Amino acid sequence: MSTNLTARISPSSLVDTHCNYRFHTLRVLKQWPPRPAITNASFGIAWHELAGKVYNPRNGTPPNVTHLEAWSRQAFRGQRYDSEAARDEDRLRCLRMLEGYIANDDLDDAVNTLSVEHWVEKPITRDGQPFFVLSGRLDRVIVRADASGTGPVTVVGRDYKLGRPKTDLEAAFTNLWLLKLGFPGYDNYLSELDWVDEGGRVDRETITVADVRGQHAAVMDRLQRVLLGDAHPQEPGEHCQWCPLRDGCESRESTGIDFRVDAFQENHA
Ligand code: SF4
Repeated sequence: MSTNLTARISPSSLVDTHCNYRFHTLRVLKQWPPRPAITNASFGIAWHELAGKVYNPRNGTPPNVTHLEAWSRQAFRGQRYDSEAARDEDRLRCLRMLEGYIANDDLDDAVNTLSVEHWVEKPITRDGQPFFVLSGRLDRVIVRADASGTGPVTVVGRDYKLGRPKTDLEAAFTNLWLLKLGFPGYDNYLSELDWVDEGGRVDRETITVADVRGQHAAVMDRLQRVLLGDAHPQEPGEHCQWCPLRDGCESRESTGIDFRVDAFQENHA
């Protein structure tokens, strides 16, 4: 039985654990195929950096937009773009979205921001031995208490999402776990996924600890399988859709269907 004591598990790497071969290749051997620059990824990275500056309490009471223009130039300067025109177009689009988001955001939440871009990293053990390292970045952490100051205090991990809404309870569970490890001692923990559209309008999804009940055991079972096993078979499934190893994956190719096979032959009999 082999173990990999340096494997890092994060909300975004969890999808790789659905295929043993994929997890071993990408997360253990760290053999990634060459990846072209994705403009959407550059936009998302810059958006998160800029939102982090606006809501960082160390930059003044959030939301702080005093240096928004300068911060936006800094955030997009660090990203790869084919042309300066494309970079500036995305920068202006990002500013429009963020200004809309700030206008729609709850002012109490803004003021009660504890931390932004908060990195959490914890070793997780199994039978007292190192098992894997759980790590991840929390976009924004907010504390909520009732007005009397005597009720339960909730800490909220808010995640900015710029794509199409799609709930991933396993990733939400991992985010909540990171939130609890990073900010222990609160009464309640809540994950908020803010799906932000082009106008900065938010479709907010709230995920409670009760919503992710049972995810811990399910995810740990899978992690034991991919981290402790000696064999690393390809395991095709719906997770193949966005797999970086998709091109040339034997399992996928062996499932091909000859073009002469009538799609509905048996139904015609
Ligand atoms: S394409 Fe599917 S089977 Fe092949 S490595 Fe990726 S996830 Fe595994």
